[in-house]
Amino acid sequence: MQIVFIGPPGAGKGTQAERLADYLQIPNLSTGDMLRVACQQQTAVGKQAAKFMESGHLVPDHLVEKIVLDRLRDPECERGCILDGFPRTLSQAAELDVWLEQYLQPLTVALEIRVPEEELLKRLDARGRGDDNRETVRRRMQEYAELTRPLVAYYRERDLLQVVDGVGTTDEVFTSLQRVVDAVKS
Ligand code: AMP
Repeated sequence: MQIVFIGPPGAGKGTQAERLADYLQIPNLSTGDMLRVACQQQTAVGKQAAKFMESGHLVPDHLVEKIVLDRLRDPECERGCILDGFPRTLSQAAELDVWLEQYLQPLTVALEIRVPEEELLKRLDARGRGDDNRETVRRRMQEYAELTRPLVAYYRERDLLQVVDGVGTTDEVFTSLQRVVDAVKS
């Protein structure tokens, strides 16, 4: 199964993607985590990505595509994987489709975790990650609305979109996700 997660900052994608990967016994590739490691290790990609991430901007497509598509080549991804945080632009989505078609299986499902904006702001205030200060959060929300939300229509048109309500406890949201994924699998 090839699964992508879509959702605004603070929607709980990371936590849910980890749990789902565990449930399905497939790897979870988080582009945010990969980029944070690249920044810490000061790799060429990391050095270029850092200034975008710190200011709440998306990292340019070609840098992210390079690290994520390289990882998809790992034999551990042959049975499928979860992509948490990729694609985040239409251009990344198109690139992923071409890539999956050529090397793996086509996408199984795009899971959108939907959470109202006031709830997201409350959660991000409480989280306190380095890129969670108010100005940066505002920019990340704006970039989500402009660049990432169009993916919802992109996947809906391809009949691949499933929407999950992201309000509730982690267990409640996970139960909804499991239900969707079990239905898609069978
Ligand atoms: P996340 O941990 O998924 O919230 O990602 C943290 C930051 O990494 C984002 O705010 C972006 O700056 C960058 N990032 C992660 N994934 C992508 C992507 N697919 N395209 C562009 N930037 C990304």
